[in-house]
Amino acid sequence: MNVKFLGAAMSVTGSCHLVTTDKYKILLDCGQFQGGKALEELNEKEFGFDPAEIDFMILSHAHIDHSGRIPLLVKRGYSGRIYCTDATADLVDIMLKDSGYIHEKEAEWTNRKAERSGKPFVEPLYTFEDAAESIKYLEPVLYGQLHEINPDVKVRFSDAGHILGSSIVELWINEGEHVSKLVFSGDLGVKNKPILRDPETIAEADYLIMEATYGDRVHESSFDSLGKFFDIILKTTRRGGTVVIPSFAVGRTQELIYHLNIFYEEHRELKAELDKIMVYVDSPLATSATEIFRRNAQVFDEETREYILKGDNPLDFKNLIFTRSSEESRQLNFNPAPKIIISASGMCEAGRIKHHLKHHLWDSKCSVVFVGYQAVGTLGRSLVNGDKDVSIFGEKIHVNAEIYNLEGFSGHADRDDLLEWLSSFITPPKKIFLVHGEEESKKGFAHTVKEVLGYDCTVVEDVSEYDLNSDQLLSIEDTKNRVASREQLTDVKNQLSKIHEDLEAILYNANLAVGNGRTEEEINEITNLILELDKSSFKLGLAVTKKEE
Ligand SMILES: [Zn+2]
Repeated sequence: MNVKFLGAAMSVTGSCHLVTTDKYKILLDCGQFQGGKALEELNEKEFGFDPAEIDFMILSHAHIDHSGRIPLLVKRGYSGRIYCTDATADLVDIMLKDSGYIHEKEAEWTNRKAERSGKPFVEPLYTFEDAAESIKYLEPVLYGQLHEINPDVKVRFSDAGHILGSSIVELWINEGEHVSKLVFSGDLGVKNKPILRDPETIAEADYLIMEATYGDRVHESSFDSLGKFFDIILKTTRRGGTVVIPSFAVGRTQELIYHLNIFYEEHRELKAELDKIMVYVDSPLATSATEIFRRNAQVFDEETREYILKGDNPLDFKNLIFTRSSEESRQLNFNPAPKIIISASGMCEAGRIKHHLKHHLWDSKCSVVFVGYQAVGTLGRSLVNGDKDVSIFGEKIHVNAEIYNLEGFSGHADRDDLLEWLSSFITPPKKIFLVHGEEESKKGFAHTVKEVLGYDCTVVEDVSEYDLNSDQLLSIEDTKNRVASREQLTDVKNQLSKIHEDLEAILYNANLAVGNGRTEEEINEITNLILELDKSSFKLGLAVTKKEE
C-alpha cells in the first residue's frame, strides 16, 4: 500500500491524500489551497492523478480546504462515491455551491479587467452548476457505523469535534491475506466546545495520518478568550464603536452566536445596555449554515441537547439579525449605532467582510476581533501581524481600529490536545505522518512526540509518496520552494507598481510646480530624472515578469 500526500503537505490548506492498495485508489479529502495568490494557483493545476482512476473518495469534513476541489474532481472525470457523515453532506452542499458562485464572480471580475487591458479571458475554477452536480456523488454514513464499501475496504467515522459533521476516518483495508488499518485524523477539535461533542479517541492503527496545525502552540483557554471577547464588546460599544468579527461562516459563527446568546441571557444587570447592541450575522453562507446546525441537533453535545429540550434555541436570541441581501449588508455601513458585525470570509480574502473592514478599519472607536486561523499571505494575517496600512479593493486604508486576536476560539486542537489524543492509542501506530501544518508546527510536534511518547513521526514536507509496506519514501517534489519564489516575485511586482504610482504622483506635482517660481528648465530636468527612474523600474518589472514565466 502506498500513500501520496498531494495537499496539506507543504501548507495547511489543500488537504488531499491518495491511498493506493493492490486493487484500489482511495482519495482522502480533495481540498482547495487557500492563502495567497501563489498557493491558490495550485488549484488550477493537475491533481497529480487521473480523477477517472479513483475508485472512491472519503471526506473528513466540510471545510473548503478539505472539500473545495470536489466539483473540479468530478468535472475532470471522477464518478465514484464520496463517503462522509450526514451533517458533512448537508454542509458541503451549501459550501460547495457558495464556493462555485464565488469562483464565477471572481472570473467575471478578472474578465472585466482583462477586457479593458486586452488580456486573455479566464474560466472559473468551477461553477455553481459544477458544484451542484458533484453533490450527487455524496454518500452519507452515520457516525460509529462500520460501513463496508466493498469486500476489501471498510470505513468508520468517529467524531473529531472540529466542526459539525467532522470526522476521524478509520479504514480497514484487505490486501490478499493481509489486513491493515489506516487512520486519518482529519482536523481535530478541542474538548469542551459548545454545541460539539469532544473528539473521540482511537484505540489502534497501523498507519496514522495526523494533522498538526497547532503542533507547536498552546492556545489560551477558551474561558480566558471569552472573557476578553465580552470586555472588547463592552469597551468598544461604550465608546460608540462597532465590533467587526471576521469569522468562518461554518462552525465559528455558530459558536459565537451560542456564546452571545448566553451572554445576553445571563447578564441581566447589563440588560438596558445590551438591548441596544444588535448582533448582525452578515454572511448568506453563515445564515444557511446556521439553519443546517439547527437541523442536525442529533450530533450536538449533551449540554446543548438539554438546552434544546428546555424549549430554547441555542442559536437564536432577540438581538440577533441575519442579513440576507447585499442591500441590507450595505445599509449596515450607514448605521452609526454601536453594534456587532459577524461576517465572512474568516481570513478576509473574500466576501462581505472586506466591505466592513473598509468602512471600519480607519475608525479608532472600532475594534476588529479575529477568532480563527489566519493563513500566511491573507489580509487577516497582515492585520493580526499589526500592519498599519492595508489595501482593500485597491484602496489604501490606514488602520486605526483596535485589532485583537483571540486564540481560545480555535477549532483546532493545540499541542497538548494533539499529544493527549495521540497518547490515547493503546498500541502506538507503526507509522505516523504529520500533515496540515506550517513546517515549524509539524517539526515542533514531532519533537514533542519523540520527547514525551518516544514515537518517531514522519514530517510530510512536500508533495511526496511513501511505500507503507517497505517503509520507504518513493518520491518528493519541490512545490514548497516554487510557491515561495512565486510569492516573492508577486511581492516585488507589488512594490514596483507602488514605485510606479509614486513616480507618477511626483511627476504630476513637478508639473504643478511650474507656476511656483521654478524655471521651466529646472522642471524639465526633474521630469527627465523621473522618467529615467520610471523607465528603469519598468525594465525591472519586465525582468521579474520574465523570470516568473
Ligand atoms: Zn477544518
